[in-house]
Amino acid sequence: MGIERIEVYQVTLRFFEPFRIAPGESAESRNVAVRIVTDYGVEGWGEASPSRRVTGETVETVVEALSRIAPRLVGACPLRIERNVETMDQVVEGNPAAKATIDIALHDVLGKTAGKPLFTLLGGYRAEVLTDFTLSIKTPKEMAADAVKAVEKGFKALKLKVGVNPSEDVERVRMVREAVGEGVEIRVDANEGWSPEQAVEVLNRVEKFRIRFVEQPVPAHDVKGLARVRRESPIPVMADESVHSPYDALRLIREEAVDMMNIKLAKSGGILKARKISDVAEAAGVSCMIGCMSESEIGVAAGAHFAAGVGNVNYADLDCDLLHADKLVKKGGTRVENSMRLFSRESGLGLVELDTGLLGRPVAVYK
Ligand code: MG
Repeated sequence: MGIERIEVYQVTLRFFEPFRIAPGESAESRNVAVRIVTDYGVEGWGEASPSRRVTGETVETVVEALSRIAPRLVGACPLRIERNVETMDQVVEGNPAAKATIDIALHDVLGKTAGKPLFTLLGGYRAEVLTDFTLSIKTPKEMAADAVKAVEKGFKALKLKVGVNPSEDVERVRMVREAVGEGVEIRVDANEGWSPEQAVEVLNRVEKFRIRFVEQPVPAHDVKGLARVRRESPIPVMADESVHSPYDALRLIREEAVDMMNIKLAKSGGILKARKISDVAEAAGVSCMIGCMSESEIGVAAGAHFAAGVGNVNYADLDCDLLHADKLVKKGGTRVENSMRLFSRESGLGLVELDTGLLGRPVAVYK
């Protein structure tokens, strides 16, 4: 059995409203989806949302990297995922979002070939995954109002984007906590926006509002700064932009810089390497979260199956598709009820029907 054809699609998905984090604002998401068709009647979908800031990729670089990767995989056995990932690494360095599209499609093929939902093949650790809902940076008052709306929709955990102005950030956390009461978990993500000094100050001031963890308080490269924040912060520190690979994970652990790590498939290059990051972390007693960039339900479903499969992936921030007005997946995938990502009995990622209008025609086909 072999890969017969790989199709590459460019997809633009509009947000309901512009989304703001510390480094900037976006109104839409430009993603790449791939379809892998095998010679035995099974096909798989993958997708990634490239981030220039985080991995240096754009839709254009992903399409270009795939033009080198895809021809090398045509004819290969789709189930030899580790071997196929090695091939991708031999063809191009870096380009994790491009590699994630293929890795995810191969995992979808794996699940469909086995006739099982993917998470059961990845370890089947849990049957549902609690996700938070992320609040875009706005004024403290507006964020408190958004928080109340999210809780009314059933979300039990909120992730507050902060990292723009320390005293205003403290107000954001205070007003959200006061608006939602004690029963909701609050996480904060500074997206590299603070200096170590500012981070230590803010985190000590918001400790009383009961924060589960803080994501990437300082710039990605500043591992010493991250370690300092971890030592002086009363709130657990999670790396995001600082961790892309198992090697990054090892370094952060050696430098005693993190309590937790946020894995994203677009950073790791897909599920196989996400697993390796989680395994390195687990050996050091470091819990992981699965996050997302701005994928549609295809990429989000891949993250959800990974989180459900792997015991050490204890947290999930899988809400980005909920922020999109345009829905690439019309039927199937996972669904969210009361803060939980729930799975169907469909095999693989469980995708049933995509919006062919949004998908358009492939920008490239390799066969
Ligand atoms: Mg983050």
